Amino acid sequence: MSGVRARNTKPELRVRRFLHARGLRYALHDRSLPGTPDLVFKSRRAVVFVHGCFWHQHAGCDRSRVPKTRTDYWSPKLRNNALRDKLNARRLRRAGWVVKVVWECDLSDKALESLFNALKRLPTTRVR
Ligand SMILES: [Zn+2]
Repeated sequence: MSGVRARNTKPELRVRRFLHARGLRYALHDRSLPGTPDLVFKSRRAVVFVHGCFWHQHAGCDRSRVPKTRTDYWSPKLRNNALRDKLNARRLRRAGWVVKVVWECDLSDKALESLFNALKRLPTTRVR
């Protein structure tokens, strides 16, 4: 089950490089948090998930289509993935985290710039 969430994927590296180049620093794959967020911005209490559209069932996205063969296998599996994502996000939000999701189908500069701005705007608590 945890194998679904591949680490260090190309989309993830793209997001990391983009934010790092603009001066944001983060921890990676914090397993103490629900869903093991890909990027963790501790001082801003924010996390970012970089999701593959298929595995995480990006709503309304072409890449999220369930295969027509072995539907009985894929449907529940993918539905569970999406459900688990939702529950993890809820648990994080309840614990005071800001949760951002980046989808692999939109890694444009524009999309990442707006992610960067949103993160940058969050107040930081200086931890020493
Ligand atoms: Zn998508």
